[in-house]
This record gives sequence, C-alpha cells and structure tokens, in this order.
Amino acid sequence: MNCPVCYGENLLCFFEVNNVPIFQQFLLKSKEEAISVKRGDISLKLCQNCGVIFNDKFKEELIDYKLPYDATQTYSPSFSKYMKRIAKYLINKYEIKHKKVLEIGSGTGEFLLYMHKFGDNLCIGFEPSESAKNINSPHVKIINDYYSKKYNISADIIICRHVLEHIFNPREFLKSLPKLDKCIYFFEVPNVVWSLENTAFYDFYYEHCIYFSTISLSNLFKLSEFEILKIGKGFYNQYIWIEATWKKGKKNKVQIKQDKSIKKLIKNFQHKYEVFSQKWRKLIENFSKSNTVVLWGAGARAVAFLNYLKIEPPLIEYVVDINPSKHNKFIPGTGQKIVPPEFLEKISSNIYVIITNPAYYNEIEKQCKPYKAKIFSLINSL
Ligand SMILES: [Zn+2]
Repeated sequence: MNCPVCYGENLLCFFEVNNVPIFQQFLLKSKEEAISVKRGDISLKLCQNCGVIFNDKFKEELIDYKLPYDATQTYSPSFSKYMKRIAKYLINKYEIKHKKVLEIGSGTGEFLLYMHKFGDNLCIGFEPSESAKNINSPHVKIINDYYSKKYNISADIIICRHVLEHIFNPREFLKSLPKLDKCIYFFEVPNVVWSLENTAFYDFYYEHCIYFSTISLSNLFKLSEFEILKIGKGFYNQYIWIEATWKKGKKNKVQIKQDKSIKKLIKNFQHKYEVFSQKWRKLIENFSKSNTVVLWGAGARAVAFLNYLKIEPPLIEYVVDINPSKHNKFIPGTGQKIVPPEFLEKISSNIYVIITNPAYYNEIEKQCKPYKAKIFSLINSL
C-alpha cells in the first residue's frame, strides 16, 4: 500500500496492535455486547516522504458513522471554553458576521451554535450520526448525512474539525469540497507530535486511520491545491489547525517538505511505549489490591488504554464520565460500566482515579474532592 497523501512508497512501520474495537465512541448497552464488538487491526506506518502516519490495515467498509456515535466533549468546561475561543477568533479575523457557515462533521452542533451566537451567522452542518438530530435552532440547520458534492452548498467559511483523521483518502475528500473563491477553509486535527512526545499510545486507535503533524498537514493541503494562510496549535498543543483558501489560477508543482524530526520521535516512542504500558499495568494491579481504581472520561483514549493494556473488570470495574448520555453504558472491548461522578459516593474503599488527558486535571480534581479520591495522570505535564 502506498501513502494516501503523497502516494510515496518509502514507509516505516512502528506500531502494531491487533484485534482492537473498531469504534471507541460507540458505547454499548450491556457488558456482553461490549465484549463482543467488531474488531480490527492497527499497523501504523510513517511515510518518510511527506511525514503522514496511517493505519495500513484500516478497512473503511467496517466503519459507519450513522450509528448513535457520541464524541461530545462540551460537557467539559475547559473544552467549551476552547471551542468558544476558536469561534470568536475566526469570526473576528475573517469578519464572519451575518454570513454563511458550513461545517462538515458538526457533531451535535455546539460549534455552529457559537458561530451563530457570536457572529449572527446562518449555519449549516453535516453530520451522519443519529446524535445530529438533537439540535433545535432556526439559525443552525444540521443535515443528517455525510457531506458530498451533490449538496452543492456555498459558504463564506467551511469548517471541518476532527474529521480528516477519520478519512483514509483525505485528498479525495478535499477535492470533493466546493471550490469557492473567497471562502476560508478551517480544519482541525489531533497533533500526532504531541501524542508521540507524550507516549500517548492510546491516541492511536482504529477510528483514526490517519495522523498529522504541522508539516504533513501542510503537505496535504498544498498537494490538494490550497493556499495556506496559517497553521497553528491549540488545546495545549494537542490539536493542529490550518486556515487556507482555494488556490486560483496556475498551479505550480508542489514541493513536499520532509519532516526530519518525526523519525526520531517515533524511535523514542517505540521504546517508551513498552516501558510505559508495562509500568501502568503493574501499577493498576498493585493499586487495585486494596483500593478501587476507576478511569475518568469514557472517551476514545480511555477505550484504547483499557484495551491495549487488557485491563478488564475486576481490575478496573468502572469508568466515570460527566456526559449523562454515556451513563450505564459499557466500554467497547473490555466491558467496564460507565457511571456518573456521584457514583463514587457508593465506593467504600479508597478511590484511585486515573485520567488520560491532563487538560482536564483541574476540573476533575474539583469533582473528585468530595470523595477524597487520589488522582493519577497518565501524562504529568502539559
Ligand atoms: Zn506520503
């Protein structure tokens, strides 16, 4: 298989894990269902030409985002704050006021609601998941489908946050977007450099079939005939975003920029991953001898962490989450029950809470206070 971005053949395999759940954000109604979910394999390859990382064993036909998929993060105050900041930034920088906003992969529509609220814009979103049906605003319309060319929609800004990493052929996808003269294209994806630097191996999961650094993301956009206005990092460097316009007129041959530092990061990651995962597996075994260990946040990271380390009940029995729609559901693959924070009151032994994202440390600490829980972060610094 060639690189899906530059079609290069110089690939380096560096991370393999087999038989992992296909969906991280699709929670199950019973433990039995949770354990018997569909599974797939991950074999991550680095393209040594353009710097993109992708799962060579990804099978697109296994994925269907029409399922009741829930990736909402806005229950977290720090995440909402971040989304508001981005919306205000775009509105001010590009004067997106009384204009038309199109978002592809709009989830439950929170970002579009901010784009309307702060800029009085007319907003249209595309979201294939059932969760899209929840929105109710005359200014924010969500179309319950995958975006495709047939819709032929024009807009002053096209927003696409956390979608590209789910698309195995991103060049084809970028090609399918409406090519509008004065339109701003704003894309946000996870920053793979942050995951590698922090040994966050649980950031590599099946739904995300492709991973970008600032360099590889710029290569993709240049190859797809966009003019890059700005590329930056957000949410404590965990995300990268790109602002671009459609390149008009004559197209010159694109020079691919090679990412020289990523190979070194990968070598380090490979070594640290082994040490780190063994250390945490042992720690959890020791902790659970005389304490109750829970994981905080039933997001994709928690699902990958539990599955890769093969941590099943009773070692960890519960995962806490503040999103009510996740309560009483079960973690795919390992089968932990998802409970609200108040559930911790029922636990009589000492509570040890493990968190996967340090960005939420302060708010989790606050919520854990009444239960005298001890908090451990997989990543210590931001
Ligand atoms: Zn490539």
